[in-house]
Amino acid sequence: MVRPTHTSKEVEAAICHAESMGWRFRKMGHWGRLFCEHADRDGCAQQVNGTPRNAENHAKQIRRAVERCPHQRERGQT
Ligand SMILES: [Zn+2]
Repeated sequence: MVRPTHTSKEVEAAICHAESMGWRFRKMGHWGRLFCEHADRDGCAQQVNGTPRNAENHAKQIRRAVERCPHQRERGQT
């Protein structure tokens, strides 16, 4: 499935960041949701709003969810 591009470039960048960290996008709800690598169990999920009132804040919210995820494999810790 091809992910639709978000209309806000801040949010789009945050989604790309999440994807680069192994999160997966699924189209559902208002626009979609991002799931971390452990989404099949009790992993993290972050809703992505298609028309956020404040795109900058929403982008930050997404980035924070990615940072907070305790399931991430350690990457690039060199
Ligand atoms: Zn997680």
